[in-house]
Amino acid sequence: MKPIVAKFGGSSLADAAQFRKVADIVRADADRRFVVASAPGKRNAADTKVTDLLYRCYELATQGQDAAPALALIRARFAQIMDELSIDFPLDEELGVIAAQLAAAPARDYMASRGEYLNAKLLAAYLGVPFVDAANTVRFSGDGRFIAEGTNEALATALRGVERAVIPGFYGADEAGRIHTFTRGGSDVTGALVARAVNARLYENWTDVSGMLFTDPRIVPNPDTIRHISYRELRELSYMGASVLHEDAVFPARAAGIPINIRNTNRPADAGTMISHDLPPAAAQRPVTGVAGRKGFSTLLVEQSLMNNEIGFGARLLNILAAHGVPFEHCPTGIDTISVVVDTAALDACREAVLRQIELQMHPDHLSVEDGLAMIAVVGHGMGGQRGIAARIFSAVAEAGVNIRMIDQGSSELNIIIGVDEADYEAAVRAICEKLRK
Ligand code: ASP
Repeated sequence: MKPIVAKFGGSSLADAAQFRKVADIVRADADRRFVVASAPGKRNAADTKVTDLLYRCYELATQGQDAAPALALIRARFAQIMDELSIDFPLDEELGVIAAQLAAAPARDYMASRGEYLNAKLLAAYLGVPFVDAANTVRFSGDGRFIAEGTNEALATALRGVERAVIPGFYGADEAGRIHTFTRGGSDVTGALVARAVNARLYENWTDVSGMLFTDPRIVPNPDTIRHISYRELRELSYMGASVLHEDAVFPARAAGIPINIRNTNRPADAGTMISHDLPPAAAQRPVTGVAGRKGFSTLLVEQSLMNNEIGFGARLLNILAAHGVPFEHCPTGIDTISVVVDTAALDACREAVLRQIELQMHPDHLSVEDGLAMIAVVGHGMGGQRGIAARIFSAVAEAGVNIRMIDQGSSELNIIIGVDEADYEAAVRAICEKLRK
């Protein structure tokens, strides 16, 4: 049987009680042979993540201030786990190495990585399983770029013939042995890399929620958990702000055809959300998988009479945006108008210059920018070929008294995207979800 890779996030490994739950989960299935660990996260809302304490140590050291109190807080976090679980571990020796490095030559990524390093070592000792360091297997270039194929080979080689292992998430190293980290939340990425390297049949991502929700619970109370979602649906929903997983974690698993299961360490009996290429038949027939959205978009509206006769008009507009590094999100066009939806923050970096270039190069009859647009994506493979879904969405929004400012349906029929005023965003999401539930 192919193995399962189980990655446990920071809240799943935040203290001794959580370590116990993790051990129970790992022992409950003999196929959970490879475990990827995050640093201890928050134990409660007011707590500080060990990774944040480590960044603080680095800042203090580089400002010539005393990092000892912050280091003592970190020590206390690990000591609690170690003492309560009676793990035999040379904590002070390990912390001595880290403190000496911090004093001699502080390095940001090295410091940040020590939370995963120590936690994975502790977990390995607790489970009685070998520790395999990511520094020898997850490869980066000297300037900090992740090397995908080199990592896959190194991980596969290191784990070949290995029955069980605990691997720290979040970091790797370059050829000179210098540590580099992924962006925050990057242990998810390590988990996916290990899953690919050991040809896992499943990548379990254990966290503190029972999966992905149909929509934002701050807007719609108690939304259903999505039981199955395809990689493509996930991409659409995460792009619009519904995130359960580090973006870069999806690609390696998806390319290797390994499904990802989001699970809850605090409710291990819950099935969670399964992310895979294809959906099981029942899920594929459900018209809508999820609804997500975000605020902070602007529309650039350009009008030019007889625009439809002028070849290359749209291309010129997009080229101007590209030259200023502004990505475009959507581009709904009329006969004599073209509008481009962009991220307001991206546009703000060069708004004047972009508008000047459009005037100069395109001489439009009219040019304006409207800010304050929110976008809502209704996503689901099942919408393809089903009649009436769009009608239900639009009538829901209309009945809520909300004006739709833009509509975009991808030709794949995977999603319908509508733009509304930011002030109407919550009401529109609520109305759509209510209507789709009926
Ligand atoms: N510990 C790192 C962070 O807090 C990485 C992770 O937990 O995935 O971002």
